Amino acid sequence: MRTLITGGAGFVGSHLCERFLADGHEVICVDNYITGGGGNIEQLRSNPKFSFIRHDISHHIDIDGPVDNILHFASPASPVDYLRHPIPTLKVGSLGTHNTLGLAKAKKSRYLLASTSEVYGDPEVHPQREDYWGNVNPIGVRGVYDEAKRFAEAMTMAYHRSHGVNTHIVRIFNTYGERMRLDDGRVVPNLMGQALRGEPVTVYGDGSQTRSFCYVADLVEGISRLLFADFHDPVNLGNPNEVSILDFAKEILELSGAKSRIEFRPLPQDDPKVRRPDITRAKQVLGWEPKIERREGMRRTMEYFRNKVKR
Ligand code: NAD
Ligand code: UDP
Repeated sequence: MRTLITGGAGFVGSHLCERFLADGHEVICVDNYITGGGGNIEQLRSNPKFSFIRHDISHHIDIDGPVDNILHFASPASPVDYLRHPIPTLKVGSLGTHNTLGLAKAKKSRYLLASTSEVYGDPEVHPQREDYWGNVNPIGVRGVYDEAKRFAEAMTMAYHRSHGVNTHIVRIFNTYGERMRLDDGRVVPNLMGQALRGEPVTVYGDGSQTRSFCYVADLVEGISRLLFADFHDPVNLGNPNEVSILDFAKEILELSGAKSRIEFRPLPQDDPKVRRPDITRAKQVLGWEPKIERREGMRRTMEYFRNKVKR
């Protein structure tokens, strides 16, 4: 099988490249390095089944030969990154999705869109089920990401309905693990980096907002099942184990052994107050549920960042 992964040099994308190579696929990674370099895929370069194309997927792409699977993961994903790159974020969610769907139509590929729990915005339904339409502020600062992903879902369903493309949509909830960028601004690398450097750990607002954190290996397993499933509506993938950000910060401090204090900072605009996936659908359709406890996943991730901070 020949599998094309956009955003393949990013955090989740690099794990997907590795997974599909291990499953025997030929993997074509497309990335423009807008939020990182090639470090995450360095170990794959010597694999003859791996190839890399540096390209902005918001522009048309030609690929020679057959393509069996396309996974569209290109997009700034951290709030800090997408606030820094608002227009490229809107473009990759809209034009990039259109380009990859066009390629899937031409090559008769299976297609999987990386969507997000952000399509639910600041949710008024808790936990979030796939049939909830969300509460998104289209003109708020996070709108550039949320609305791009909502458009991407609409475009994906239109290609499925109008052109019969074999599409899949995963709504990913906060995922963490090795190969996140230490400076990407998301809560896991931020707090772990701060704790390991002995700096104060920054909690935004009073820390009562909640998130539910999924370890990357669990997510990758769910994605690979969804790609081959005969199911076209969106599927939530995430870990339903919900925690307040304040308690999460305390867990990180304990795990790191750091003596750092907690420093409270203003809550960013439109920061969702709660987030937890209802994963009933993933269980039913994919027989999937996360296996790695937060403590274990966090321990592994902390080791990864410990080595990065040392360098
Ligand atoms: P990441 O920032 O680590 O990786 C994204 C990659 O996409 C980067 O390597 C970047 O250079 C590349 N990219 C961005 N725009 C591009 C463009 N126009 N052309 C080519 N490459 C481009 O982020 P991640 O956490 O790995 O997220 C990957 C995908 O999963 C994103 O689509 C994101 O929206 C989705 N997602 C992730 C999470 C999570 O918790 N990690 C949650 C929800 C959704
Ligand atoms: N957050 C925090 N301190 C930080 C970074 C983030 O308290 O240094 C909070 C942020 O306000 C949000 C949660 O942690 O409530 C998760 O933020 P992240 O940027 O990881 O992603 P989000 O889930 O908001 O997309």
